[in-house]
Amino acid sequence: MLSKTLRQLIDQLTRWPGVGSRTAARYALYLAHLDPTEREILIQSIENLKNLRFCEFCFYPFDAQNQEVLCPICRDVNRKNKTICIVEKETDLNAIEETNDYRGRYLIIGPAVLWFDDDRFKSRLKKLIDHLKKESIEEVILAVNPTTEGMALVDYLRKTLRAKYPEIKITTPRQGLPRGAELEYADPETLKSALRERSD
Ligand SMILES: [Zn+2]
Repeated sequence: MLSKTLRQLIDQLTRWPGVGSRTAARYALYLAHLDPTEREILIQSIENLKNLRFCEFCFYPFDAQNQEVLCPICRDVNRKNKTICIVEKETDLNAIEETNDYRGRYLIIGPAVLWFDDDRFKSRLKKLIDHLKKESIEEVILAVNPTTEGMALVDYLRKTLRAKYPEIKITTPRQGLPRGAELEYADPETLKSALRERSD
């Protein structure tokens, strides 16, 4: 019989993406066997999440010092260059950053599977529309994963943004990524050329 402590832990772990009850049980037992120092380090890392803030411009999480509201990318004046790249999630942004090529800013709109019925998506889209006006944005790159939901999201964003700001260029990366593939798993060279050869 599992102890209450372990049952509660398993309950929490099954909420994690991709973790089923068997994996959750394995993780819980792994945690149960941690020595006190390792356990303290883990507890501390979770505790530190309290200091994590989400950037007010792009929604990327960052370690906030003082009253900062922008992440290091959005604080970088060299990146205020009138281009915004829309991605679904943090890991997609990381993949693009790893190409060391794109020098504009981003906005994390949220996973494409959720877009049609999600308040977070709606508020982020509203924020994007605000940015386009306030920052005199000239180009929006829709670097959404080429999945079925992603394609639907691209169509929706293109239509919505065109209707509001017909003068802004809306581009998508070249179709070099295999259909259904995720940006975060693309190799940096493929991703770099797909972004460089973007078109509207
Ligand atoms: Zn940011």
